[in-house]
Amino acid sequence: MKILVVGSGGREHALCWKLSQNPKVDAILCAPGNGGTARLGENVPVKDDDIPGLVALARDREVDLVVAGPELPLVLGLVNALDSEGIPCFGPCAYAANLEGSKAFSKNLMHEAGVPTAPFRVFDEYDEAVAFVRKKGAPIVVKADGLAAGKGVVVASTVDEAVDALTDMMVKRSFGTAGARVVVEETLQGEEASFLAFCDGHNYALLPSSQDHKAVGEGDTGPNTGGMGAYSPAPVLPEEKYAETAELCIKPILKHLAAKGEPFKGVLYAGLMYTEDGPQVLEYNVRFGDPECQPLLMRLETDLLTIMFACIDGKLDTIEVRSTPQTACGVVMAAKGYPGAYPKGMEITGLDEADAMDGIKVFQAGTRLDKGKTVTSGGRVLCVTALGDTLAQAKERAYQAVDKIHFDYSYHRRDIADKGLKRLS
Ligand code: ATP
Repeated sequence: MKILVVGSGGREHALCWKLSQNPKVDAILCAPGNGGTARLGENVPVKDDDIPGLVALARDREVDLVVAGPELPLVLGLVNALDSEGIPCFGPCAYAANLEGSKAFSKNLMHEAGVPTAPFRVFDEYDEAVAFVRKKGAPIVVKADGLAAGKGVVVASTVDEAVDALTDMMVKRSFGTAGARVVVEETLQGEEASFLAFCDGHNYALLPSSQDHKAVGEGDTGPNTGGMGAYSPAPVLPEEKYAETAELCIKPILKHLAAKGEPFKGVLYAGLMYTEDGPQVLEYNVRFGDPECQPLLMRLETDLLTIMFACIDGKLDTIEVRSTPQTACGVVMAAKGYPGAYPKGMEITGLDEADAMDGIKVFQAGTRLDKGKTVTSGGRVLCVTALGDTLAQAKERAYQAVDKIHFDYSYHRRDIADKGLKRLS
């Protein structure tokens, strides 16, 4: 069986790694891929937003399954385009992918489906948005409607800050058309957790909880990034709360989309805030999170290919999706300067030594192979992921492996999983 994985991050390396464990998989293509995916299969230089290029690649190379890592190809309609060629693709159709592609669509759907979420208003007119913000006062949250690479959200502590954000998005168009419409919502207080489920349109199978670390600096300081590390499970969302949380935050959305004739297939990711009143949904993503994917796939015991086809075929209720009770912790090693400007092309050493350690897998992100050497090519370079019997052991192992790896201008947070450890103690 031939698989095409779309994307180039640590998540896609993890997807290729997990899928390659099925003996039926004899070839993996990754578009465009990275240094890690190049070792598991063949990288093909087609970008993740080139839908005709991806369809042609899947058709010409007679691919049996396409797996979309990031949200962009899903929002651009990759699943629909492949469907008309008869090629199965794991992920939602374009309509359902709007859950991530448009925050206004997503919030309206949450409201209609009765999902707990912060009270909100949607604005197309700048003057009306400014008047609303002045009336409501701060703190208040301003969100660009469209995809903005995780940068389109401002949690404003003053009215001036919120108005500046509106000006940036709606007048200066810092995010292009993504900011022409905005969502303004109440600020929630609490601890965040990620809760992901495989979905087949009607049924769902839950993955264990996890927690990302979005800020670049220790103690959650500094600008937000794509994610500096993640661990699973997250003690803020313990196993005994999974079922009731899914009833509140996963099931109503699936039911609602199915009733609209647009069933959701793929991974539904609920970004939750645990408030004093219970979970509130901050956002939905329509794919695995990066870096949550890496610890979650380290823990996943059920064959991923079987799960993906069960989702596509609407047969998730016929299989059991299991994860090991062990804990996993992933630490992102980045290039200094990220998420701003950063150097590239540094040679990475110690990868094989780290990979050979007990319970460790090094997932590559911003890397490429250069004459047999692995060199950096992006801001987030690696996600060093460890399994452990406890969260403390997983964390310790992950950092022992991190310390074996070297590249110039390397940077990582040393406090991944500390929030979970604090809650456990
Ligand atoms: P991502 O980086 O996950 O793609 P995004 O740009 O899609 O993020 P959100 O997840 O909606 O946007 O928001 C980003 C972050 O902003 C959240 O993780 C949370 O920390 C903060 N945030 C969003 N909404 C609220 C809210 N209502 N109250 C408090 N904080 C919020």
